[in-house]
Amino acid sequence: MNFDTKAIHTGRFKQDPKSAVSPPIYQTATYGWESLQEEPVPMYTRYGNPTRDLLEKTLADLERGSDCLCLSSGMAAVASVCSLLKAGDHVIAPMDAYGGTFAYLTRELEQFGVEATFLDHSDVESYRAAFRPNTRLVWLESPSNPTLKIIDLAACAEIAHRAGAYVGVDNTFASPYFQNPLDLGVDIVMHSATKYINGHSDVVMGALIWRNAEIGGRLRAYSKRAGNIPSPFDCWLVLRGLKTLGVRMRQHEKSAMRIAEFLASHPRVAAVHYPGLPTHPGHELAKRQMRGFSGMVAFEVEGARAEAESFTTKTRLFRIAASLGGVESLIGYPPVMSHAMLGEEERLARGVTPGLLRLSVGLEDTDDLIEDLNQALG
Ligand SMILES: *Cc1c(COP(=O)(O)O)cnc(C)c1O
Repeated sequence: MNFDTKAIHTGRFKQDPKSAVSPPIYQTATYGWESLQEEPVPMYTRYGNPTRDLLEKTLADLERGSDCLCLSSGMAAVASVCSLLKAGDHVIAPMDAYGGTFAYLTRELEQFGVEATFLDHSDVESYRAAFRPNTRLVWLESPSNPTLKIIDLAACAEIAHRAGAYVGVDNTFASPYFQNPLDLGVDIVMHSATKYINGHSDVVMGALIWRNAEIGGRLRAYSKRAGNIPSPFDCWLVLRGLKTLGVRMRQHEKSAMRIAEFLASHPRVAAVHYPGLPTHPGHELAKRQMRGFSGMVAFEVEGARAEAESFTTKTRLFRIAASLGGVESLIGYPPVMSHAMLGEEERLARGVTPGLLRLSVGLEDTDDLIEDLNQALG
């Protein structure tokens, strides 16, 4: 079966007595026992829930994994991966990792005696040199946030495995429609399902997908103990959103490509970062490891902060908001949003210049979106 068919049919609920076409929401905390000898499965919703099971089965199938765990947020998923670590371990992560991931790997893990090194993974020599005997986890993100850099996932995974480290990838920006990192040799795929997977900006959720049963067993056991699970209703909403992931991603990409080309040709735009443009440094690599370039476009307006701020107040369809991947177009200004906690110098080292803006291209009519950007660029 191909992607769009799986998205609709894998999560079919086969036990419904009324053959309802839409799956039921098992809004229950617990399940009755017939007798003390017959423990029900699931036994308690923190351990399992049929609506969550349907979503996990579908996501595992779409990410080409053997199993999936859905969690209360993308950050809960990152934190769960870190439960594989112990005091004295070392982590390697990208310098332009998602802000929340950076904060967790530094401020939280530090308290447990785990150290993290942040670097540019496209510089293979410094990446290789960063490994220590105690490096247990390599975290990757591609395309990255906000400058949409592409990391060679297969090459990074191979080096990490030779050093005996687990490899996790944040696949939020690509979605399973455009990239399946498990096929490239990584161990764990992480999603903020809040973004493209749900696609309607009405749920916060995370997901982890894997093939290795030993890793999976540890992640599941941790989630049962930590209790970082999503609600049955949210699982139902995400399952509903997931059915249209393929059609949504095709349209996000189609519009993003046209918008990137429009911006690249505009005299008031100093630079455009979109992996679908042949001028993007990661374009060839993206063509090899992805099936498309997704719907995120970053660009720099001529000038600095004042020009960028003025632009964000002039757009009518692109609303200023954190998050991405929904049907509505959003605009983000990393220096005061995702990268506000960093100093100016740290931001510049990550390519976050004062003129940088990030677009999540939604599903509105492409001509209307271009018209909106055009009038805002004035
Ligand atoms: C939003 C996001 C996260 C965090 O997910 P939440 O669902 O907000 O907890 C992690 N990584 C990336 C790339 C994101 O965009």
